[in-house]
Amino acid sequence: MAAKYDFLIVGTGLFGAVSAYLLRNKGYKCLLIDKRSHIGGNVYTENVGGINVHKYGAHIFHTSNKKVWDFVNQFAEFNRYTNSPVANFKGKLYNLPFNMNTFYQMWGVKTPAEAKAKIEEQKAEYRIEEPKNLEEQAISLIGKDIYETLIKGYTQKQWGRKCTDLPAFIIKRLPVRFTFDNNYFNDKYQGIPEGGYTAMIEKMIEGCDVKLGVDYLDNKEQYDALAGKVIYTGEIDRYFNYQFGHLQYRTVSFDTERIEGTANYQGNAVVNYTDAETPFTRIIEHKHFEMFGDAIDACPDTVISREYSKEWQPGDEPYYPVNDDHNAAVYERYKALADAQDKVIFGGRLAEYKYYDMHKVIERAMEVIG
Ligand code: UDP
Repeated sequence: MAAKYDFLIVGTGLFGAVSAYLLRNKGYKCLLIDKRSHIGGNVYTENVGGINVHKYGAHIFHTSNKKVWDFVNQFAEFNRYTNSPVANFKGKLYNLPFNMNTFYQMWGVKTPAEAKAKIEEQKAEYRIEEPKNLEEQAISLIGKDIYETLIKGYTQKQWGRKCTDLPAFIIKRLPVRFTFDNNYFNDKYQGIPEGGYTAMIEKMIEGCDVKLGVDYLDNKEQYDALAGKVIYTGEIDRYFNYQFGHLQYRTVSFDTERIEGTANYQGNAVVNYTDAETPFTRIIEHKHFEMFGDAIDACPDTVISREYSKEWQPGDEPYYPVNDDHNAAVYERYKALADAQDKVIFGGRLAEYKYYDMHKVIERAMEVIG
């Protein structure tokens, strides 16, 4: 009997939704399924009293790839949000990413030459030639003071590991600038879809059949029989029944609070708490992603989320892959099995075990589906 669908897409997050759109455009019939009771994976947003709450953590879209930017703009209008997080270290505030404002707040230096000289002076004490870990990478980029104030405590809270046990690449994501520019990203395009990500995903998957609240791996044979090909975006280790052991993740929990009668709680969407003692890593105030100027006070309430990071245990939601040598080796073994499956495409953060940004997931889906 011929299968009812050309593709079964497991997971309605970005990789699944972009694939669904591209495949449907080619005339294929797709069924999307998701374990959760809603679409969108971790980009899912929920409207709470007029504020789109990023239920699984802040998602700020940015890319320099015009093709990706044009692609997402078909499904939503993007606003002018520019991410400029503030760091709170023991009550004192600093601008991020590391730029002339931060250097002024830290050292009182006023020119790029003064800032560079200060960083050089701090680096010289350590004589790091080839940074071997995150601590060495951070010190050689911006010196000891910023490392100890803005990086060390935050990173150890976020990853649950010492900075000396973490790979250098994690910190290379952050720009270091000798200009007074608080834009967290260097990318050409940036914004948040007006109306939230859920509406954007809804448009992407229009015309496809969707089934929510069902676990593919619990009824794999039955679902496989429905389609000629499968796109799997869940955890790769779970797909292969953990035969080489569990891959490690960090999970995040959110303590979300609606504060009535407070229109503006912290004056910014993102405030990082960079000391080691505060138990949460950051507080997100969701309205600032989509409301600017007078609109902030016109909405009398606010919603904030305190974000706590911890080691993933079976049953938790996996968020960040822990890209150390052990996990890389385990992943390679799973990947070899995945590569040998000709009926199944593995894509996205969980199936490729990769610390992906949204634009990179879209790029990848475009590459794989064509
Ligand atoms: N980081 C830090 N201090 C900060 C913000 C970030 O040390 O105030 C480091 C930390 O190691 C983190 C990495 O930079 O894991 C990447 O941060 P990013 O904000 O890109 O992480 P995400 O938003 O993906 O959680």
